[in-house]
Amino acid sequence: MICINLCIIVTGFIDVESIIDSVNKAHIYKFILKPFESVEFLWTAKRAVETFELQKKLDDHLKSLEQRVEERTRELAGKNEELQQAYVKLEQVSLTDQLTELKNRRFLNKYLDADIAQCLRTRQDWNEKHPGELLANANMLFFIIDLDHFKAVNDTHGHAAGDSVLRAIKSLLEAVFRSSDYLIRWGGEEFLVVARSANIADAPQMSERLREIIANHEFTIGADLSLKMTCSIGYASYPFMNQAPDVVTWEQIINIADNALYAAKKSGRNAWIGITTAQTTTDSDIANQALINTKQMLEDESIFAHSSLSGLINWDK
Ligand code: GH3
Ligand code: MG
Ligand code: MG
Repeated sequence: MICINLCIIVTGFIDVESIIDSVNKAHIYKFILKPFESVEFLWTAKRAVETFELQKKLDDHLKSLEQRVEERTRELAGKNEELQQAYVKLEQVSLTDQLTELKNRRFLNKYLDADIAQCLRTRQDWNEKHPGELLANANMLFFIIDLDHFKAVNDTHGHAAGDSVLRAIKSLLEAVFRSSDYLIRWGGEEFLVVARSANIADAPQMSERLREIIANHEFTIGADLSLKMTCSIGYASYPFMNQAPDVVTWEQIINIADNALYAAKKSGRNAWIGITTAQTTTDSDIANQALINTKQMLEDESIFAHSSLSGLINWDK
């Protein structure tokens, strides 16, 4: 801020240094040398007062402008924060299934590639430091879950009853899986769970817990009405092959899990089936073969089936 003091020095001395001093230190408006004309002095004083008043007005105006800029900046920061929050909310909505409040496919497409990359990096780091040793909890388990005979709920009790069954699945999934796992409505009455940093050896136990919790749950569909449901589950793990972890993609893993789910349906429902492969396999066509020639691959022990079913599994397409 510029500041002019209303200061006129009247002096009988002319000394360059004192002039410079006065101007520099005291913001002198004018330096009048004696003797002076009184008219000239009066005019000078008048102009000094005018300049002083003008400067003061300017200062006040500047101050109020600064205040307004500050207020606007605060307002803008507030609006920016609101906008940011609205954006986060919108993003959440677009990644969430509206009926069940589970995540949707868009969520998976957005985040899974980064998780896969992280999973591969972790394994690679481990292998460099501990060659030949297996790393625990370095799998991503893909469970596909499909409600059994769900259409009958709609047909018998109406679509709203079906909707309430679907909504109830969320808390059952949450009871079995960790909060860091991805719980996704895959479509209709199908769900996908991706358990991250998991151990493949735990997959049967996790599947069984889920099968049981759904089969034992009373689904309330009206004031005095509840019903029982069962589900079928198929699972497979990423990486599919430990020795060639990036060969089978997560999309192929889901197809393998889906194939197992289909077999669980064909073999009686209310059951789970998981597919794994031998530790040393590196066959780049394994995913295709596991889908097309499932029975042959099982017989050859190129892949293995794990299941809650005690009898034979029906692999017919
Ligand atoms: P399966 O044991 O072979 O899986 O038989 P299912 O009856 O469960 O399977 P199907 O594919 O024959 O029927 C699925 C039904 O799910 C058909 C469809 O109308 C219903 N459905 C899909 N989405 C919704 C939804 O959002 N709400 C309701 N209420 N029903 C839905
Ligand atoms: Mg289905
Ligand atoms: Mg179904």
